[in-house]
Amino acid sequence: MDHFLYQGGNLHAEDVPLAEIAAAVGTPFYVYSTATLERHFRLFDEALDGMDHLVCYAMKAASNVAILKTLAALGAGMDVVSGGEYMRAKAAGVPGERIVFSGVGKTRDEMRLALEGGIRQFNVESEPEMEVLSAVAVELGLRAPITVRVNPDVDAKTHAKIATGKSENKFGIPIARAREVYRLAAGLPGLEVIGIDVHIGSQLTDLEPFRQAYLKLAELTEILRADGLDIRRLDLGGGLGIPYARGNEAPPLPSAYGAMVQETLGHLGCEIEIEPGRLIAGNAGLMVSEVIYVKSGEGRDFLILDAAMNDLIRPAMYDAWHDIVPLIEPEAGAEQRPYDIVGPVCESGDTFAKQRMMPQLSAGDLVAFRSAGAYGAVMASEYNTRPLIPEVLVNGQEFAVIRARPSFDEMINRDTIPEWL
Ligand SMILES: *Cc1c(COP(=O)(O)O)cnc(C)c1O
Repeated sequence: MDHFLYQGGNLHAEDVPLAEIAAAVGTPFYVYSTATLERHFRLFDEALDGMDHLVCYAMKAASNVAILKTLAALGAGMDVVSGGEYMRAKAAGVPGERIVFSGVGKTRDEMRLALEGGIRQFNVESEPEMEVLSAVAVELGLRAPITVRVNPDVDAKTHAKIATGKSENKFGIPIARAREVYRLAAGLPGLEVIGIDVHIGSQLTDLEPFRQAYLKLAELTEILRADGLDIRRLDLGGGLGIPYARGNEAPPLPSAYGAMVQETLGHLGCEIEIEPGRLIAGNAGLMVSEVIYVKSGEGRDFLILDAAMNDLIRPAMYDAWHDIVPLIEPEAGAEQRPYDIVGPVCESGDTFAKQRMMPQLSAGDLVAFRSAGAYGAVMASEYNTRPLIPEVLVNGQEFAVIRARPSFDEMINRDTIPEWL
């Protein structure tokens, strides 16, 4: 459920007509709903009721500081994957003890930044990383709290680019080697082993791969405890999927996920940590764009938009589907026709949808891409020297620009000219 509904024939974000935002900030833009962000966070938080837990928002999904502040105010922790994200979480006022550092390639500088600024734990992914982290912590006279990310070798049955839990993926250490790796970790002077971490992929639409992974995690917890390790925290990763197309079967709800966690891991008495990203932000954001031209091609019509693959890369990168709807509600039973919906960039990949059934549209009409809140704005680039599009946050009847569109001068003046030119 989200808060983007037609009211009086016009698509709204909560109580604000999107056309009003378009008039104020220009198209294209991203817009997020506070109520939807809050609702999704609470669903996860409540799903783990009865277990000691922390929901750490995987902020790579949508990392605007205003979004982070919205979630942090509800008690969210943050899952970060870079020094930049760590600094964003700090800028949003999130205390170090609620920030988890994930990622397969943390640098010494990033480790130092997080150790000095405060960190809940590092999820380490390899033996070399462990040794470096231990050395950096010893240099600072600290001990780094860690979990080891284990790769449970389960098939998440999701898009290949976002599956991470099979043995051929670069992530984590094979669960079969976990005991040996934990033994090494326990012997390193700069590390304090506190738990286990797993994250098997993104946009999972079935609980079964999670269940298989968590059963393996439960078994490993008992084994490591028998080896004398104080395993007290389990980080279960993120990955629960969202419905991208209306009418498709909806993925399991956080409540079902929570019940499964309780069932597979509840008896261990561990603190549970989860790292949802997409399910919190995905359906809490839209991208709004204007039709520039309607072009009749051979046997097909193109809707050429002012948004392009640099603004929303998911269709080009993951063959992702986004529902695309006009801002003005079509009349019931209005005739639909197929369009190829494309952006202005000179690449065939700059295609959002092929032969998509839409009500008839004309130049100047506005459309909204649904489910664009996660992995949308954060993956945008300035390809073609197209400015990063603004982000807007709605809260009830109010809205605010939370990242402004840069001017051409601001973009160009980032380049510096060497002396010899
Ligand atoms: C990407 C990622 C997440 C979030 O995944 P979603 O599918 O957005 O929920 C969580 N944890 C780790 C380690 C990740 O890399």
